[in-house]
Order: sequence, then C-alpha cells, then structure tokens
Amino acid sequence: MNLTVFPRRGYIQSPTPLEAAPKLSQLLNGPNIYLKRDDLLPGAGGGSKTRKLDFLMAEALEQKADSIVTCGAVQSNHCRLTAGAAAREGLECLLVLEERVPDSYKPRASGNNLLFHLLGASTIRVVPGGSDMDAETAKSAASLRDAGKKPYVIPGGGSNPLGALGYAVCAEELLQQCFFLGLRPDAVVVASGSAGTHAGLLAGFAGCNASLAVHGISVNRPRAAQEDKVYSLAAKTAKLAGLRDRIARADVVVHDGYVGPGYSFPTAGMREAVTMTARTEGVLLDPVYTGKAMAGLIDLIRKGVFHKGQDVVFMHTGGSPALYVYEDEFLAARGE
Ligand SMILES: *Cc1c(COP(=O)(O)O)cnc(C)c1O
Repeated sequence: MNLTVFPRRGYIQSPTPLEAAPKLSQLLNGPNIYLKRDDLLPGAGGGSKTRKLDFLMAEALEQKADSIVTCGAVQSNHCRLTAGAAAREGLECLLVLEERVPDSYKPRASGNNLLFHLLGASTIRVVPGGSDMDAETAKSAASLRDAGKKPYVIPGGGSNPLGALGYAVCAEELLQQCFFLGLRPDAVVVASGSAGTHAGLLAGFAGCNASLAVHGISVNRPRAAQEDKVYSLAAKTAKLAGLRDRIARADVVVHDGYVGPGYSFPTAGMREAVTMTARTEGVLLDPVYTGKAMAGLIDLIRKGVFHKGQDVVFMHTGGSPALYVYEDEFLAARGE
C-alpha cells in the first residue's frame, strides 16, 4: 500500500497523539486503554473528518471547483470541518442538513450550527429526515451549476473510497506509533456511522498485513446493515489503495447495542461514558459518536469481551463542539 501517490492538501503534518488512559483503565479494571487523539487533528474544532478532507479537497481543487456541496445532520461535525476547509481554500460552501429528529433544526442553535455560520457556509438548506441525501446534494449542485458555478460534491461524512483513504493513513500511522511504543494492541474500538472511518481502518490494516480486530460501535443502524455498509466501502477503499487481497467479510464487526432510541438521542451509557472520560482523563468526548462508542467499550469490558492484560486502542474521532447543545442532558443528570 503506497498512499503517497494520492494528491492531498497537507492539512495533517504530524501524527496525532496515542495516549495511555491509566485512570480510566484502572477504574474499569479491564484492559489498558489507549486514546488515539484524532480529536486533536487540525481543522476547525478538530476531529476525524480532516483526514478525509485532506484527500477530498485536493480532488476538488484538481477539478477546479469553486464551491463545495456536502450534507449531514443538523449538528454535523463533518459539515463544520468541511466549511472550515472550504474557507481555507477560498471556496464557497453549501450545506444540506438532514433533520433526522423532527424539529431539531434550530437556526440559532449553538455547537456546530453556530460554527457553520462563523466559518462562512454560504447556504444552509434543511431537508426532512429520511430524505435521499445523495439526491438532495445533487439538486443543490445542479442549482449552483445553473448559476454558472463549478461545485464539487462531498458525500455525507466524506465517506467514499477517496475520503476513507484518510483512515487507511491513520491505520499505518497507528501501527507505526505502536511499533515505537512496543505496543501490540489486541483491538481497536471506533464509532461507526457513515462508515468511512471504520472502512478506512480495515483497508489500512489489511494493507499493512496487520491482523488487528476492529470493533465498530454503531451510532445509527442495526448491526447487519452497518456491517454491509462498512464491508462494501472497505472493499472499494482497498481497491483504490491498490491492495491485492480482499477484506474478509468476517473481519467487519459492528456492535449495535449502544444506539439507544436512535441517532443523536442521548443514552444513560453515553452520559456515563462522557462523564467518566472527562473526570478520569480530562478528555472531552461527544454525545453522538464517541460517547456512545466509549459506552460500548465500557460495556464490552464489563461483559469480559476485553479484559485485563489486553491493550485496546479507542479512536477518539472528535465531536466535542456538539456537547454545547446537550447542556440540559448533562446538567439535569447532576440535578441542576
Ligand atoms: C463522523 C464522525 C464519526 C463517524 O465516522 P464515520 O466515518 O461517519 O463512520 C465518529 N465520530 C465523530 C466525532 C464524527 O464526527
């Protein structure tokens, strides 16, 4: 696997930290937990999408685009980071937001919504939950073309094979860090949503001949549907990366017990995970992705799936700006 052949924008100049989380590990009396701090990636507010945008924005500029169209949920981290990257490249940015929870779009909401505006997204179009988002972004792109513009469309979460290469890079980077730390992790735990992160990691580990179990924690779909989505994207990403071997379907592992009532809805496990990680390690997770992924890791430790003597890497993919629209959840839990 030689990922240097793909054009990139160079948003990422150095590896993100791989940090031990000794207090959290001790409290759970389980494996040694390590945090891969992709929440500290460059880009407005940090987080995983910068790795994908590094490749996607390079293609946009190669195609001489003057505008970017992308989509996401009303508090999308991907939309925030895309708006930031577009600002940096001097491109217009149009966001199509899917109101997955009825009446959840608040034009004056804090968190990522505030940042969409601050980062200069030119247009925000809100469509009902369940809309065909590929069709909606295509529609927005068509109207820009009618106005004489040259839009580049980035799919939700930046999760196409080119974007997912960003996480094949991360897989190589992580193995390199483990090498220098003398660490042989037993598993990686990651939030699995639009699937580019999970699929890219699988392709990257395969490309390095590393048999390392990747446990995806679904934030949205039931297990079979999410595994199919990850598998399909991992296969395409591996092909793009020039891998000879196929990804095995059996290597795609998703746990769907931590979604709760649905995407972005708070759960007791998420609240516990966010609070515990903050108070043991001083690290902020988020309510939609990493909070539920950590709830999954905590539960899998309590069930004995991961145990003492093992080393587990938790991918911290970012998202903390969304905490600021969940203040009632966390303050109410303290009775305040
Ligand atoms: C987008 C996102 C994820 C999920 O990544 P996918 O590639 O969409 O599966 C996880 N965590 C955070 C904070 C995100 O913004």
